[in-house]
Amino acid sequence: MTEQQEPQAPADDALQAPDSSGVAQEAGDELTNAERAILAAAQAATTATTELTMAANPLRDPRDRRLPRVAGPCVLVLFGVTGDLAKRKLLPAIYDLGNRGLLPPGFSLVGFARRDWAHEDFAQVTYEAVKEHARTPFREEVWKQLSEGIHFCPGEFGDDGAFDVLAMMLREIDETRGTGGNYAFYLSVPPKFFPLVIEQLKRTNLAKGPDGSWRRVVIEKPFGHDLKSAQELNAITSAVFPESSVFRIDHYLGKETVQNILALRFANTLYEPIWNRGYVDHVQITMAEDIGIGGRAGYYDGIGAARDVIQNHLLQLLALVAMEDPTSFDADALRREKEKVLRAVKLPADLATGTARGQYVRGWQGGEPVVGYLEEQGISSDSATETYAAVKLEVANRRWAGVPFYLRTGKRLSRRMTEVAIVFQRAPHLPFSKDDTEILGHNALVIRVQPDEGITVRFGSKVPGTAMEVRDVNMDFAYGESFMESSPEAYERLLLDVLIGDPPLFPHQREVELSWNILDPIEEFWASQGQPEGYASGSWGPASADAMLARDGRAWRRL
Ligand code: NAP
Repeated sequence: MTEQQEPQAPADDALQAPDSSGVAQEAGDELTNAERAILAAAQAATTATTELTMAANPLRDPRDRRLPRVAGPCVLVLFGVTGDLAKRKLLPAIYDLGNRGLLPPGFSLVGFARRDWAHEDFAQVTYEAVKEHARTPFREEVWKQLSEGIHFCPGEFGDDGAFDVLAMMLREIDETRGTGGNYAFYLSVPPKFFPLVIEQLKRTNLAKGPDGSWRRVVIEKPFGHDLKSAQELNAITSAVFPESSVFRIDHYLGKETVQNILALRFANTLYEPIWNRGYVDHVQITMAEDIGIGGRAGYYDGIGAARDVIQNHLLQLLALVAMEDPTSFDADALRREKEKVLRAVKLPADLATGTARGQYVRGWQGGEPVVGYLEEQGISSDSATETYAAVKLEVANRRWAGVPFYLRTGKRLSRRMTEVAIVFQRAPHLPFSKDDTEILGHNALVIRVQPDEGITVRFGSKVPGTAMEVRDVNMDFAYGESFMESSPEAYERLLLDVLIGDPPLFPHQREVELSWNILDPIEEFWASQGQPEGYASGSWGPASADAMLARDGRAWRRL
């Protein structure tokens, strides 16, 4: 989980902790000379990158000589390479990892899609995606090395012949590039194809490699659309891959700011003593988007804001904020504590007043008029899909009993912002005149997940002058300023973890099911309620969401 912690391989998986030189070695089989050469080159590239990074950033502690975690020899097979996610996030992230020296020289990428492309065509598509979206600067020598390992396999998911060709191609890559039979299969495809692709991997014996090699499957969210479908998907996946080889991507967990919730809470003494019902008034977790559904009508309609965001990202944030400290940051310990929180989540007694949902109607966004959800292309005029969802939850345990956790997410809201706000109780006694503290609010600790990543602490301060007037001020920590380098993209971190075999940042099936357990009754209730309430595009959501907090004497934070 941390840079200090060496990669931990699941018992039946292959990568072991790096040897004393920091280079990962394969378990089981002896290394061939070719593999030794590849590993040595990977270490050299890594050391060079470390030197470069340390030299470039004066704020980096010069005592920090740790070697970055580096993936061992492997192939990444990417299904759905023509899709939005692959182009915007995955292909650029692969390049960025290569640019940081975190991929081995023999690393190979195989794209699978229904296009009549040669290897060079796919390399060109990758090049364009990298040029447009990569985070790190373009370097010809990195691209050259990466492009030598780019392959393309044309085919439909239902085409047995195409998967046979894929299996053959992978064997050839092993021989020519020393990838050792280690394959990660990334399913960046519409969820309805997950079972078919997994079945094809089983049929072609690609799901299980020879001893000493590993096979992993990466599944993008959504993991099902309710508890039953999530269990069905898991039954299909676990019949082919052991749980330790299944990596479920919730990309929020790959964000630096989300991981920093754990650092903030458990690496400091300052916050933990007040992180409980004795001091916290309530918690607000917000993921606001200013865009509409764009070209994703087919995916979004019928799914809606709660399934798309609350079931995964927001409940994961809630779990990280509310959990007890894990005994360590290995996957089991971390997941166990998150699961306890999800198990303790209590729904509001009255779902009509303890939840809110809405659907955007016409309005203004960035000075431009925009259409309502029902007028979007591909959306039926009577769709009851919510584009805004808010819920009030309680974590029923000793630490949190009685503290509301308000979660909200929506599209076409006033601005794009994801944050977690811990709002503290007021001081029990104010030895000032009422007039002097009239505009004093609650203390708050706000974790800004995106954009403008950082942390703000809001507290009362004396206004300069002769009176004892007290009002709110902010103390700010911004990642960009403190570390002077941009944070890796979530997908960089998560892809690397997949290739290394490091699972703490990937939700376990139990977490997925517990989250659906929370959401299913809410969805069922909403389904019986007809159309969601309209809210103007560019606003902060439906009036019922404001009323939900107003009934508790609170208000949503203005972002
Ligand atoms: P997308 O744009 O719809 O792309 C789907 C990909 O699957 C395309 O490459 C498509 O190829 C391919 N495909 C579909 N049917 C196929 C078939 N029968 N045989 C072979 N290939 C087929 O989807 P996406 O937005 O990239 O999303 C991919 C996955 O990530 C989904 O599970 C989604 O829920 C998840 N996700 C996406 C985002 C995002 O920001 N986009 C965020 C979070 C999660 P063609 O070009 O041939 O149609």
